Amino acid sequence: MENVCGWIAQAGSSPVHDRLSGTQKADWLIIGAGITGLCAAHSLAEMHPQARIVIVDRQRAAQGASARNSGFVVAHEHPTTDELLGNQGFAGYEVDTAISRAASNEVRQRIARHGIECDFRDAGYFFAVNDPAKLTHVEAKLQTLDAVGASARFLEGEQLKQKLGTGHYQAAIWCGNGNALLQPAKYVKGLLDALPPNVSLYENTDITALERLGTARVRARAVEGVIEANKVLVCLNAFITRSGIENSGTFPMELSASLTRPLTEQEFQAMGNVEPWGVLSTRPLGATVRLTPDRRVMIRNTAEYRARDLSNSDLLIRRKHHVLGLQRRFPWLTEQDIDYSWTGHLSASRSGQAYFAKVEEGVFAVAGCNGSGVARGTLWGRLLAELAAGTRSPLLASVMQRAQPGWLPPKPFLDIGAMLRMRVEAVRARTEI
Ligand SMILES: Cc1cc2nc3c(=O)[nH]c(=O)nc-3n(C[C@H](O)[C@H](O)[C@H](O)COP(=O)(O)OP(=O)(O)OC[C@H]3O[C@@H](n4cnc5c(N)ncnc54)[C@H](O)[C@@H]3O)c2cc1C
Repeated sequence: MENVCGWIAQAGSSPVHDRLSGTQKADWLIIGAGITGLCAAHSLAEMHPQARIVIVDRQRAAQGASARNSGFVVAHEHPTTDELLGNQGFAGYEVDTAISRAASNEVRQRIARHGIECDFRDAGYFFAVNDPAKLTHVEAKLQTLDAVGASARFLEGEQLKQKLGTGHYQAAIWCGNGNALLQPAKYVKGLLDALPPNVSLYENTDITALERLGTARVRARAVEGVIEANKVLVCLNAFITRSGIENSGTFPMELSASLTRPLTEQEFQAMGNVEPWGVLSTRPLGATVRLTPDRRVMIRNTAEYRARDLSNSDLLIRRKHHVLGLQRRFPWLTEQDIDYSWTGHLSASRSGQAYFAKVEEGVFAVAGCNGSGVARGTLWGRLLAELAAGTRSPLLASVMQRAQPGWLPPKPFLDIGAMLRMRVEAVRARTEI
């Protein structure tokens, strides 16, 4: 079986761009053409219409994690116990939510400004559980969400089944007013297709090293060429170490997902003609599930600590896991009903916070979007461009103040610790996969 992202297959590809060759010069170089890099390119082009801005990607642009994710636009995270109103972590949760809400608004503005058709649904989504014990402190969570400006409602039993068309979930908090869903490949392709003329894109251009040229310029080396720029923005997400930045405090995770065929009219009627929805688990390794506007079911229920791509035979094993997850919710679905299975990499941190920094003179970088890079990547792209351009704002200050990804042990302790932690989390999530 092949690793084919269903979202990309549906969105289609943009025209191919050349790979970098020879020696190029630019005012600004952006490495990584995902949501973050593309939004940085748009912002720089708006700020500096006369400048030469170059963006490069080691594969096709807009086809990495930014196209392969589950499409949740996160404005309000599910609060942890420590973050509940009245507890010590609430102040931080409030600041993080203000950032996420700004990020979610930034997505809306990008969609409107560039006229991006990406099945955007501004209708919130659910934090839902099969085991009610995995959704605790419900009243306090509703109050906390309310206090930070979300609309939140508790649902259970038949009422929840009528919303989702499956009796699998026993309890949920629906959360709206900023939380939304979109088709990720269409969104990031829209950002790519709207790049203005003063942004040049090179695809299939793997940056292998950054070198300093005196005090004022940086040279990025690719296999068949080099590019010299005054300022470099590193937007590599899970692959940040490829630029030589080793101390970001972030680590890569590989996730896998499947998308079914569209449900038949009969199946859809049996589910009760429900509206499209999205469900996030309250456990880090629980399943993310969506019913899409074209009535397909998407499930993402594996996450592993790794940077390299799964082989096709390993993906086949993950797909069997997807089938089990699908059948727990929709017992009639089989492996034959899956149209696409794929993997993608996200950049995680121990604290859940990002790495967002001026690395050295002329070099700026961001990583560690954890599971909310659709909205946050959109905002960070702009803010990283502003940081590099010397523009300051309270929002940028707030993002930089929160950007503390936490300490990571050196390898091999990191590898061992991460693997053990993932096993514990997998056990904790076993009712929710
Ligand atoms: C399966 C899955 C589900 C997810 N679900 C959600 C979700 O529902 N909501 C949410 O908000 N987030 C989600 N995420 C996270 C989200 O996808 C990321 O946070 C977001 O896409 C990060 O965007 P980015 O532009 O920073 O990185 P990316 O999209 O990863 O872009 C980085 C780019 O850098 C390129 N690159 C790598 N190395 C080099 C190099 N050496 N030279 C040049 N280019 C290079 C890559 O090819 C890639 O295109 C999910 C992630 C995955 C994998």
